[in-house]
Amino acid sequence: MKQMLKTKPNQRSRTAKRLDRIPPYLFAELDKKKAKFLERGVDVVSLAIGDPDNPTPDFIINKFKEALSNPSTHHYPPYEGTLDFKRAVGEFYERRFGVKLDPEKEVLALIGSKEGIAHSFLAFVNEGDIVLVPDPGYPVYNVGAIMAGAEPYPMPLHEKNCYLPSFEKIDKNIISKAKLLYLNYPSNPTTAVAGLEFLEEAVSFAKKHDLIICYDNAYSEITFDGYIAPSILQVKDAKDIAIEFNSLSKPYNMTGWRLGYAVGNKEMIKALGTIKNNVDSGVFTAIQVAGIEALKKGDNVVSRMKSIYIRRRDRLVKVLNEIGWKLKAPKATFYVWAPVPKGYDSTSFASYLLEESGILVAPGVGYGKSGEGYFRISITAPDERIEEAVKRLHKLDLSSKFEQEKH
Ligand SMILES: *Cc1c(COP(=O)(O)O)cnc(C)c1O
Repeated sequence: MKQMLKTKPNQRSRTAKRLDRIPPYLFAELDKKKAKFLERGVDVVSLAIGDPDNPTPDFIINKFKEALSNPSTHHYPPYEGTLDFKRAVGEFYERRFGVKLDPEKEVLALIGSKEGIAHSFLAFVNEGDIVLVPDPGYPVYNVGAIMAGAEPYPMPLHEKNCYLPSFEKIDKNIISKAKLLYLNYPSNPTTAVAGLEFLEEAVSFAKKHDLIICYDNAYSEITFDGYIAPSILQVKDAKDIAIEFNSLSKPYNMTGWRLGYAVGNKEMIKALGTIKNNVDSGVFTAIQVAGIEALKKGDNVVSRMKSIYIRRRDRLVKVLNEIGWKLKAPKATFYVWAPVPKGYDSTSFASYLLEESGILVAPGVGYGKSGEGYFRISITAPDERIEEAVKRLHKLDLSSKFEQEKH
C-alpha cells in the first residue's frame, strides 16, 4: 500500500488522455510572435479573430440593466431557457425563415452556440461513432467529437466545388459508421454560402444513410448584396433529423454575452437539454431578457452592421485584387478568405505578413488540412485599422509574387 502511494504520482498523468487527442493549437506559434512584437512596441494590426469591434447597441444594454435590477432574474434559470426567450426565438424563425417552431419543445437556450456545439457530441454520439465535419471548418466540431470519444471525419471543401462537400465521394464504409453530419453555411472560414437546394440534398443524404444533422447557422444574418441565407429547417421534414445552431453573438455584437440557441428536432433538443441540465443549468435570465430585445428589435442593427462590413470588405478585396489576387467579394460572414501567394504555405505566409507588415491574419490550415494554402482576414476591426492594413499591404510589393504565376 505504502509503495503504491509512493509510485502512483509518477506513473499516472494528472490529466485525462482525451486532452492528448486535441490537435495542437495552430495559432500558438503566431500568438507567441504577436506577443513578442507587441512587447517590442510594434503596432500590430490584428485581423485574425472574428469578433465584432462595435459595441452592443444601447437599447439591448438598457434592457439588460432593467432585468438585472429585478431580483426575479437572480435565481437559477430554467435550464432549457425561459419560455419568453424561446418564444422570441420562435417568432424570429417564423418572421425570418418562415419556419414554425414549438417554443416548448423545439427551442433550447445556449450559453453561446459554441457551448451547444461542444455539448452536442455528448448528447448525440457514442464512442467510436464517426462524425462528418467540414474541412476547413470551425475547430469545435473536431475537438467536440474527440472529447466525446467519437471520430471526426473531415469532408474536404474545395474552391472548385464552391466549398460544398461532395457526399457521393465519401467512402461507403465511413458513411455506414457515421452518425452525425455537421454543416456550416455561411461558412467560417471559407465565407461560402449554400442554397436551399444544397440543404435539400444534405437532408436527403442524411435520411438515406440514417444520419442526424447539426447545422451551424451562426452567420445567417451577416449576408450581403441581396443574398439571404436559408435555415436548414426550411427543408421539408428536416425537423425529423436536424437541429440548427444560431447565435446572438455575430448579428447584434454580443459575443461577450454568451447567448445562442438550438432549434429543431424535439428528441435532439431534449437530449442536448439533458446534458445542459446536468452540466451548466442554463443561461442567466437577465441575458435572455436582453436577447429577446435584440431578436425583436435588432433588424436595424443588423442592417447598419452589414453596411459597415460591406464597406470594409470592398476596400480590402479591391486592394488585394490590385496587388494580384483575383478574389470575388464574399456574399456573407465578416471574413475574406484568400489563397496565399506562390512559394508560401498558410503558416509561412501568415508569419511573413506579421513579420514584414505587422498584420495578423489566421492561417487556413488552422481550420483543417484542406485550409492549407489559404488565409483568413477578419474585417471586425475599425475602419482606420483596415486602412492601416491596406497601406501596409501596398508597401509589401507582393505583386512580383503573383507575376510569376501568370501563364
Ligand atoms: C462564432 C461562431 C460560433 C459561436 O458563436 P457563439 O458566440 O458561441 O454563439 C459558432 N460557429 C461558428 C462557425 C462561428 O464562427
